[in-house]
Amino acid sequence: MGTSLRTRRVLLIEDEPGLVLTLTDRLTSEGYEVAAAPDGPAGLDRATRESWDVILLDVMLPGANGFDVCRDLRQRSITTPVIMLTARGQIMDKVLGLKLGADDYLTKPFDMLELMARIEVQLRRASSTQSGTTPYHFGNISVDFRKAQVLKDGVELDLSAREFLLLKYFIEHREATLTRDELLNEVWGYHSMPSTRTVDVHVAWLRQKIEPNPRNPQYVLTLHGLGYKFVG
Ligand code: CA
Repeated sequence: MGTSLRTRRVLLIEDEPGLVLTLTDRLTSEGYEVAAAPDGPAGLDRATRESWDVILLDVMLPGANGFDVCRDLRQRSITTPVIMLTARGQIMDKVLGLKLGADDYLTKPFDMLELMARIEVQLRRASSTQSGTTPYHFGNISVDFRKAQVLKDGVELDLSAREFLLLKYFIEHREATLTRDELLNEVWGYHSMPSTRTVDVHVAWLRQKIEPNPRNPQYVLTLHGLGYKFVG
């Protein structure tokens, strides 16, 4: 695998405007791309529909509290690292947060350097565990990374190793614009010399297997002049 120079994306689910401003400024200056959601439902929506590297999740939120948001995310098989932020420092909150699937926990007011360090830990951990151990679902497709198995309506699909790696890379970079060159480098490797046409051929084969209508794809989209984007 090559080193990805992609900008890391942080979703901040927080309702205190001052803290949103401070954190956004700081994270942006550290090179992160930051988006903020001001309440539970909006946060859950963005966390579900877009791809993030880390989610910073306040506990006391309008609409739905951070514990509920975290639990819902995990129930939807979203494994993005979650760092919970709260003004309440009781040990019970911490235990509850971790039980519901949070990866770490910071009590307000926290030191910015501490937050940056915690984010880096989560990024390192996520990149070392890759796609995690829970199956990934989209439409009628279920992908089990550990077994390298893809099911459609519960029936195993016959994917080649390369098609599986391609699908895995798409899922790991959901919603990102992926050029043919990036796919070649990351899925085929720097040392092989296939042409970018190879990517198109494999994408077509993959679509035949996973798309309800391969001629009108809904998961692996073609971005003309740019490459591909997976939105499953
Ligand atoms: Ca709050």
